[in-house]
Amino acid sequence: MSAASKTFSALSSRRVGWLLALPTVGIILLVAVVVALLWVLHKNEVEEDRATLIKDVLWLEQNLRFHVTGTEEQLQQLALELPGRTDRHQLFRLRVANLLRNNPDLKQVLWLDSSWAVVDALPAGGKPDQEIESFGPPVAEKAYEIASRLGKRTYSEPYLGPGNHGHFQLVMPVFSEHRLTGVLVAVYPIDALLTELVPWWFTEKYLVQVIDENDIQYGAKSNVQGTPNQSYEIPFEPPGYGLKLRVTGYQSGTNPLQRLLGGAIVILAAGIFWSLWAVRELMKKRVKAEQALRAEHAFRQAMEDSLTVGMRARDTTGRIVYVNPAFCRMTGFSSEELVGRMPPMPYWVPDQIEETLSLHRAVLAGDAPQDGFEITLMRKDGERFQALIYEAPLIDGDGRQTGWMGSFLDVTERKRAEELARQQQEQLQFTARLVTMGEMASTLAHELNQPLAAIASYNTGCLNLLDGASWKPEDIRYALEKVGVQAQRAGRIVRRVHDFVRKSEPKRAPCLVQDVVEDCLGFLETDARKRQVRIDCRSDDLPPVLADRLMLEQVLLNLMRNGMDAMVEIEPDLRLLTVAVAAEGGEIVVRVADHGCGIADDVKDKLFTAFFSTKPDGMGVGLSICRSIVEFHRGRLWADPNLDSPTGSGTIFTFTLPLEHA
Ligand code: ADP
Repeated sequence: MSAASKTFSALSSRRVGWLLALPTVGIILLVAVVVALLWVLHKNEVEEDRATLIKDVLWLEQNLRFHVTGTEEQLQQLALELPGRTDRHQLFRLRVANLLRNNPDLKQVLWLDSSWAVVDALPAGGKPDQEIESFGPPVAEKAYEIASRLGKRTYSEPYLGPGNHGHFQLVMPVFSEHRLTGVLVAVYPIDALLTELVPWWFTEKYLVQVIDENDIQYGAKSNVQGTPNQSYEIPFEPPGYGLKLRVTGYQSGTNPLQRLLGGAIVILAAGIFWSLWAVRELMKKRVKAEQALRAEHAFRQAMEDSLTVGMRARDTTGRIVYVNPAFCRMTGFSSEELVGRMPPMPYWVPDQIEETLSLHRAVLAGDAPQDGFEITLMRKDGERFQALIYEAPLIDGDGRQTGWMGSFLDVTERKRAEELARQQQEQLQFTARLVTMGEMASTLAHELNQPLAAIASYNTGCLNLLDGASWKPEDIRYALEKVGVQAQRAGRIVRRVHDFVRKSEPKRAPCLVQDVVEDCLGFLETDARKRQVRIDCRSDDLPPVLADRLMLEQVLLNLMRNGMDAMVEIEPDLRLLTVAVAAEGGEIVVRVADHGCGIADDVKDKLFTAFFSTKPDGMGVGLSICRSIVEFHRGRLWADPNLDSPTGSGTIFTFTLPLEHA
């Protein structure tokens, strides 16, 4: 990846990081604000609860006070009226019965004389028990004393009566002509007071307790259960003495709507977090994919820039849609000059526009040759060059063909080199043929000798006949005909040599391989006889192949001579060279087998290398030329060990020629 694109990707990933962080921060802030709001609401609620509690407590306290003071007033009225009445007892009973009826919270009202003995009581009974006693006299008596001394109503200290129920007493002195004659005492059980005076709705909400400074409970009332929330205390006066009214609020079950809202907020926040997380993961994946794509793009760009093959894409109408840098280098035109162009293209050779256009049409019609085609193109500076073009359909991501992609190879140099190599090869072949001829010169001389000797002897015979008297013209004719035949034979030999040595362009024409083999035998017969090698030729009746006869002859001569060379060392009886020609699987197969020395392993690899020879006077070009000739005819040439050889060694050279050309 280039430095610029790296910086870009670093920048963009930083930006994406920020983009991803922003909503997260936003959501966190939102949740914080919602939580703060809920907290403020809760606080308000608590404060409201407290205000309500205080209000309720004040109301209750006032209620209690009013009630007790009301009783106090009635008792005071009775205390004022009692001394002057003769029907004191009746009045007491009447009033007190009335008082008790209207105030069920009152347990008992007593009338005591000045020595605190009970004069009368309603309901009847003695002085109430007092479990808690202060230092000195019992709390009630202490209150009687105080009331009588002060001459005004007094409340006793609270005390625990039977069953640990808290009580207090209201003591009202009774004076007759400024002399204390006794006291009226109202006994209040605190529980009863609370039961009567604390309304039901109050107890549904609160726990009401009456306690002293030491937290000893004297009475309580409540109908609620649960966790105490907050409490408020207020002095309980009368009776006073540090008694307190403590009201405790209970946590009312949270409002279901509130709970629902809270739950919804939590679920929504979780949902938003989750979706944000999913988006974040998605974005991360996207960034990764983008980076991979960018890397891939950079890689492709680098690959494209370093390609030496020119690439050019055209749409289905033939318009150039893309050219790579190599194509621009090859033609000398810039990509801007080429992209969007329609034929004729600026790199077409002006005097071959028609041919190029027809090729162009063939490509667009899908008829371009599969294995490419060659064409001459022109660079911007006018220089011509030879291009090898392969055209392939351009398929898009949906599998539709959108045009054609052509790859261009500048083969000018290669062609030049090939031409040079071809010329050199030809030269070499010719030289090799000369060499072969040189090697065969003596045998040829010997062969020519035969017809010449025959001609000479026929000639001598004729002369002898002419010298004699009894010659007949038929005899002379017969001899002259023989001379003619021998002269033709000699002529054929000379022509064959001439043909063989003559340098000519390869000419392929239908020829029968078995005839070529026959000709070669004619060439080698004498030499073979001299070397005591038998040559066995086997051939089926085969169709002709399309080949250069002389070249085939050269191959066969080479292989047969090599075979004879290889058998120099073996028993003359075993020196057998077999040439077999057969048709196998659509090709002509020619096998030249010998019983010679065979091919050593280290020689095998170099066999077809030019100028490799194991012979002291060998040139080492024979087999390399044979192979190029066979390959020129689209055939193959190779060597195998001859496993059927009676000497245990030997080689079979096989070459093939395709029959389809015939
Ligand atoms: P040259 O005959 O001039 O050596 P060739 O290219 O015809 O050149 O042969 C190369 C080498 O291959 C020979 O020197 C020989 O060692 C080996 N060779 C060729 N034909 C045979 C054969 N029939 N048997 C054994 N060796 C062979």
